[in-house]
Amino acid sequence: MKQFPISPEFSAQANITPEKYAQIYQESIESPESNEAFWAKRAELIDWIKKPTKIKDVNYDLDNFRIKWYEDGELNVSVNCLDRHLADNPYKPAIIWEGDHPALHKIISFKELHSEVCRLGNAMRKMGVGKGDRVVLYLPMVPEAVVSMLACARIGAIHTVVFGGFSAESLASRIIDSQAKLVITADEGVRGGKYTPLKTNVDKALDVDGTECVERVVVVHRTGNSVPMSGRRDAWYHTLIDNSNEDCPPETMNAEDPLFLLYTSGSTGKPKGVVHTTGGYLTYALSTFRDVFDIKQDDVFWCTADVGWVTGHSYVTYGPLANGTTTVMFEGVPQYPTWARIGQIIDKHDVSILYTAPTAIRAMMKEGDAYVRESNRESLRLLGTVGEPINPEAWDWYHAVVGEGRCPIVDTWWQTETGGILMAPLPNSVDMKPGAAMNPLYGIKPAIVDSEGVQLEGCSTAGNLIITDGWPGQMRTIYGDHKRFLETYYTTYPGSYFTGDGAMRDEEGHYWITGRVDDVLNVSGHRIGTAEIESALVSHPAAAETAIVGMPHELKGQGICAYIILRNGEEDNERLRNELNRHVRAEIGPIANLDAMYIVEALPKTRSGKIMRRILRKLAAGEFDGLGDTSTLADASVVDDLINTVKAAQ
Ligand code: ATP
Ligand code: MG
Repeated sequence: MKQFPISPEFSAQANITPEKYAQIYQESIESPESNEAFWAKRAELIDWIKKPTKIKDVNYDLDNFRIKWYEDGELNVSVNCLDRHLADNPYKPAIIWEGDHPALHKIISFKELHSEVCRLGNAMRKMGVGKGDRVVLYLPMVPEAVVSMLACARIGAIHTVVFGGFSAESLASRIIDSQAKLVITADEGVRGGKYTPLKTNVDKALDVDGTECVERVVVVHRTGNSVPMSGRRDAWYHTLIDNSNEDCPPETMNAEDPLFLLYTSGSTGKPKGVVHTTGGYLTYALSTFRDVFDIKQDDVFWCTADVGWVTGHSYVTYGPLANGTTTVMFEGVPQYPTWARIGQIIDKHDVSILYTAPTAIRAMMKEGDAYVRESNRESLRLLGTVGEPINPEAWDWYHAVVGEGRCPIVDTWWQTETGGILMAPLPNSVDMKPGAAMNPLYGIKPAIVDSEGVQLEGCSTAGNLIITDGWPGQMRTIYGDHKRFLETYYTTYPGSYFTGDGAMRDEEGHYWITGRVDDVLNVSGHRIGTAEIESALVSHPAAAETAIVGMPHELKGQGICAYIILRNGEEDNERLRNELNRHVRAEIGPIANLDAMYIVEALPKTRSGKIMRRILRKLAAGEFDGLGDTSTLADASVVDDLINTVKAAQ
C-alpha cells in the first residue's frame, strides 16, 4: 500500500509527534475519568462567564437518554470569537474576503468585526429578536453572513443558515420548520459572474402558507440592483448598522442552549434540522481546528466551504475566529474567471492552509495542471479535504501538484451531526495513506460492527461505523423531532451513535471510510463499496468523475451501474467503454463488471457537492417518475439530461 511520509520541513515545525498523538489519545479514552479530565481540559480553551463544574453526562440507553456537556457552564460564543482577541490583537485580520470578481477584496480586523456584530446585535434586539428566537440567514458568501451568525450568538438567537443557492421553496420549508422570526438576506448573490435573486426568493418564500412567523426581513446591499422593499417588513442592513451603537452586552447563555440549527444536505432524504449547542460545540470546533490544522499564530486559513453547510460553520466561522485565526471567505467559484483562481487567491492572500472538497479537486484536476501552475503557492504548508472519500488519484494530484509534494493532506471525516472532525491523520502523527481518514481524534471512540451489531475486533475488518462514546460537539436533537433523532442515530446499534457510514480498518489499524452504508453493493453475494469502484474507474486516464450505483440484476441480485464523465478531449465509443470495463475488472476483480454504463455531462449534486445517488439508483432501475425531493440539488436541470441519456440507452 502506498504511504506518504510527512516532509521533513513540515515535520520540523509541527505541533505534535507520533508519540505525542499516541499518548494524548490513549489518555483521552483510557477510562471514564481520564476521558472526562481530557474534556475538562479542552473546555479551558474557551472563556466562560461561569466555568462548568459538571463536564459530561452522556447516556445512550433509550430509556434514560441524555447528552449534556458542561451543563452548568455559562458563556457567550461571540465574546469567544471577538472580544477576547481585542486586547492583544485588535487589528489582526479576522476575515479576508475575496469577492467573486478578482478585483474585489476586503480585510476586516477583529476590532471592526466586533463593532459590526455589536451594531447588528443591537438592531436585532430593537426588532424584538432575543434569546431562543430563530433567525434564518439566506446570504451569499459575504462578510455580513459571518457578522449575522455572530450577532445572533451575541444576543442568544438561534441561527439557521440556508445556502444562498437554494430555491424559494427550499427556503420556505426551512423557515416553516424552524418558525423563524427574522430573515437576513441580500439584494442579490454573485457567483461566477451570475446573479441570484435572493431578495425576490425571500419574497416568494414568504408568500407560502406557514411562513407568517417571519416578522422582519433585513437586506444586505450587495449588487445594488433594485429590489422591491416592503415598507413595514423590510429594512436595509447598512441603515441598521449606521443607526445602531456598538455597545451590545452579550447574552449569558447556558452551555446547553442551542447555538444553531442546520439542515443536512439531504443526500439521503428529507433534510433534518440538526441542533448544536453553545458550550460543547464551541469547545469542539475550536479544539479540533487547532489539532487538525496544526494551527500557528500567523496562519491564514482558507476553507472553501459555503457558510450554508456545517464546514462553513465550524471551519470558516467558529473554529478559526474562536482561536483568533485569520479566515478567508471566498464569494465565487473555482473556475471564475478561469481555473487558475484558487491558486491566485492563495498567492494574493498568502494562504497557509487550504481546506476543500474532493469534488473541487477533481474538477481542477480535469482541467489539467497548467492552471494551477500559474501560481507559485509558496505560502501553503498544509492541505485538507472533506465531504466524501477522496479517490487516491485525486489525492496524488492534490499532493503533488497543488501542494508541490511538500504539504501534508488531512483527510477529515465528519458529519453535520458531529459538529466537528472525528477522524483525520493529524499532521505529523502518522504517514498518510491516500483515501484514508486514518485515526480518530482525541476522545473519539470508533468501532466497526457487522449488520447484527457485533463489534468486529482487530485489524483487516470492514462493516458499519459507530461511535461508542460521546464528544462535546455532537448534535443534541433534530429540531422539533426528537423521536426521529433517536430512531435515526441511536436505535440501529443500541448504546452507540450510528454514523450511517461504512468503514474498513486495515492491517495496521487505520480507518478508511467506504461510503454510506446504503451505498454498499451486494453483487452475487459479494459486498463492494461504490467508492472503491469509483476510485478504480477514475484511475483510468479517460474518466474524470464517476458515480456508481446498484441496479436490479436477474442473476447477480445487484448489478453495477456506472455514470461516467469523460475528461476533456475524450470521445465516447465502444472501444473506450470496453477498455473502462476491463480496467475496473483488472483493478478490483472480475466481480466488478460494469453492467451498465452511461456517459454523461454532469452528475446530480447537492449544494455541498455530494452526488445524490438515490436519483441515479432510480434512473438505473428504469424509474423516471417520483424522483423525490430534488430541491437541494445544485442544478436540477442535470436530472432532465440524465433522464434523456438513460432513456435513450435502456
Ligand atoms: P444527509 O445526511 O442529509 O443525507 P449528508 O450526509 O451528505 O446529507 P453531511 O453531514 O454534509 O450531509 O455529510 C456527511 C457525510 O459525508 C458523511 O456521513 C460521509 O458519508 C461523507 N464524508 C464526509 N467527509 C468524508 C471523508 N473525509 N471521507 C469519506 N466520507 C466523508
Ligand atoms: Mg448524513
